[in-house]
Amino acid sequence: MQPQLLNLQHSKAIVHLDGDSFFTSVEQSIKPYLKGKPVVTGKERGIIACASYEAKALGVARGVTLREALRICPDLTVLPSDYETYSLYSKRMFEIMRRYTPVVEEYSIDEGFIDLTGLRRIFRTSYEEIAMRIQRDINRELDITVSVGLSLSKGLAKLGSKFRKPHGFTSIDGLGINAFLEKTPLKKVWGFGHNTVNLLEKHGLKTALDFVVKPEQWVEHLLGKTGHEIWNELRGNSVNPVNTQEKSSYYTISKCKTFTSPSSDRDFIWAKLVRNLESAFIKLRRHKLRVRAIAVALRLQDFHQDGFEARLNRPTTSIYEVIPVVRGMFENLYKPGKEYRATMVVLGKLENDDTRQYEFFEDRLRIETFEAVSRAIDETNRRYGKHTLSLGMSLYLDKHRHTDRDDTPCRKACLLPGETKRQRLNIPRLMLSV
Ligand SMILES: [Mg+2]
Repeated sequence: MQPQLLNLQHSKAIVHLDGDSFFTSVEQSIKPYLKGKPVVTGKERGIIACASYEAKALGVARGVTLREALRICPDLTVLPSDYETYSLYSKRMFEIMRRYTPVVEEYSIDEGFIDLTGLRRIFRTSYEEIAMRIQRDINRELDITVSVGLSLSKGLAKLGSKFRKPHGFTSIDGLGINAFLEKTPLKKVWGFGHNTVNLLEKHGLKTALDFVVKPEQWVEHLLGKTGHEIWNELRGNSVNPVNTQEKSSYYTISKCKTFTSPSSDRDFIWAKLVRNLESAFIKLRRHKLRVRAIAVALRLQDFHQDGFEARLNRPTTSIYEVIPVVRGMFENLYKPGKEYRATMVVLGKLENDDTRQYEFFEDRLRIETFEAVSRAIDETNRRYGKHTLSLGMSLYLDKHRHTDRDDTPCRKACLLPGETKRQRLNIPRLMLSV
């Protein structure tokens, strides 16, 4: 059975554009002497955040610890992440896309969707040519490469940009969909988590083509609204429009706490880490974001740092959903007898917390309970001060030695009427009591 032929008259032209090893490409663009060399970022966390293609070719991948990466490749150039510069490059990249049309979606720091529908006439050329021009402009002006997918829907365009990398260009037209989906395993489909893939495999499906030839009712019954949307998108019916709403500029949230004096006490270090995590999640919710990736690092007395990173199954705003994952990472990182001086938490892959989508197997009640608890914590802390209500695991800190450095700084304690700890008048003033 073949999918129905599409009504090409009403079809869309959607581009997905994806920066190739974006962070290290930006570094190589600013520091041309690093071109052609194995480069990684993530020095500050002790985990590789991004690896250049030269580093990837040697077997150094994202998420590996720095220690391991340097063992594989002793000549590696290791850089600290410079998110401010990456954000600037990202901004310029999206400005180039917006020269062609305002219908641009900032999907992440280095990924965007562009709806080119109707622009053929204005630019008097094919959609392929317009998409290639955008790709060339970015390459020429920013000296970084991007991979591009062009197709009838976001779902297909995203598959296209991943197909050839780096500096790839893949166009999937209505007649090419079947052949393309036949080569695409289910796990590569945008929006399918591993539970969904397992479920579909139990029904004997292997490729994205096996999925799209299934009857509409069958898909709706088995996977609900989200699955039905993906089915439509893969068939070339664009049901998920390019969303031009501006994304938040918070690309990561990190919290680091240096101890007053180094410690080897497992409970104390864990409590400090939990406190970092609580602060990070408070900030996350204040900015109405949710998180998809989490990194944890412990810094030793000799400034050596080790860390782990985990991708979450679903984006979340609740600390309870990540505590078991973080505990696992901590148990692997902590070495008894070593002296530690700081803990660090980084929340990454942030997205706007505006729409709720549940995967098929998710426990909706449990998730909603977690969210209600988070709201209660935020409300209590707003009224009575940060960390008034906190996890029992961090209570250990209250028993611990209290020093001058833990006191509230004067700039936070001495506030003018109308000021809050976060919003203060930005003028110098004398600290006088009248
Ligand atoms: Mg990318």
